[in-house]
Amino acid sequence: MTPEIDADRLWDAHMRIAAIGPTPEGGSNRMALTPEDTAARALLLDWVRPLGLRVEQDAIGNMFLRRPGTDPSRQAVAFGSHLDTVPTGGRFDGVFGVLAGLEVLRALHDAGVTTAAPLELVNWMNEEGSRFRPAMMGSRVFAGDLALETALSTTDDHGVSVREALATSGQGGSLVPGPRDWACWLEGHIEQGPVMEATNTDIGIVTGTMHARYFQLVVTGEPSHVGPTVMGRRRDSLAAAAEVILAVERIALAAEPGGRASASWIENYPNARGNVSNVTRLHCDVRHDEAARAIAMEAALRAELAAIATRRGVTIEVDPYTTFGPIHFDPALGALLRRKAGDRQLTTRDMTAAAGHDSVLVAPHCPSAMLFIPSVGGITHNPKEYSTKEQVALGARVLLDAVLELAG
Ligand SMILES: [Zn+2]
Repeated sequence: MTPEIDADRLWDAHMRIAAIGPTPEGGSNRMALTPEDTAARALLLDWVRPLGLRVEQDAIGNMFLRRPGTDPSRQAVAFGSHLDTVPTGGRFDGVFGVLAGLEVLRALHDAGVTTAAPLELVNWMNEEGSRFRPAMMGSRVFAGDLALETALSTTDDHGVSVREALATSGQGGSLVPGPRDWACWLEGHIEQGPVMEATNTDIGIVTGTMHARYFQLVVTGEPSHVGPTVMGRRRDSLAAAAEVILAVERIALAAEPGGRASASWIENYPNARGNVSNVTRLHCDVRHDEAARAIAMEAALRAELAAIATRRGVTIEVDPYTTFGPIHFDPALGALLRRKAGDRQLTTRDMTAAAGHDSVLVAPHCPSAMLFIPSVGGITHNPKEYSTKEQVALGARVLLDAVLELAG
């Protein structure tokens, strides 16, 4: 019997995961290791129980669900993504990659097909980085890009550490995080941009990612009274931060079309109505298709920060705490995905991923590739994020076809 993707079952799985941590606007809020994330993980385990997989978790909470092959000498074909979301998350980012992988395993199970190579479905911990930074935390620890101890000691905005959150949620496993016996890695993901829809592309072949550089900034001024303190005497960290935010945007506009930059998080002290603010923390990033241009964007940002600090009598500390990319995915795997899509009469397009993905961390360890399905309207990290049932099913079909060829 030929394994077939069940489009209805795959869609139903998306809607059931989306119902965990629902937001009023119809999206999902499942930040890493929250009760919602934990419930989604439990549901995934419920679903795989009839499939007879070996379930393992490592000490940073990554999940590895393995289906044995018939040839013990073969390395595994691995695939997956992440079930965590940003607070204003949609129903498809990350979820598609995990559930498409689940559907591949279900299809093989239903058809009674065992591949020669083992298969391994992965759910990475804290891809989004909304609760604990940096993003792609689980895959970074797996890849040795971030020390386990550093990750475990990281705290969220309420002072809860990753170590505590893993213990509370029961998601810390016994495996030492590290690369596994994988022959290759595939990740299905939504595009999160408008290009595929605009060009009638069914399957995006992701050839690589942008280079991104992340910064945590601390603007420090002096506390004072909003009434008596004359304007010329103020060292207002919030007003300085406002200038920083606009500078970040200017740098991005000047770097289009290949560049992007955002200030995306702010914390202000004392954040009191009668106070001129004295400490404002910002998070921002710059990214570009070309690494050299991203580095130039950082230089432009640092020049702006120095000018703002001098002009306003504040200090601005810069913590350039992480980067990702540029990554070039495996051309042979990209060619395989392109061919498998073509075999199903689907249109393809080579693309560069603008967002970070766990695949960026896996790629140095084994041949890796990503495929995209379209995002309606290019909307993402938003409750309106949407891909159609057919788009979701087509992506899973190409994943299934590729896995069948790779795993023999
Ligand atoms: Zn994602």
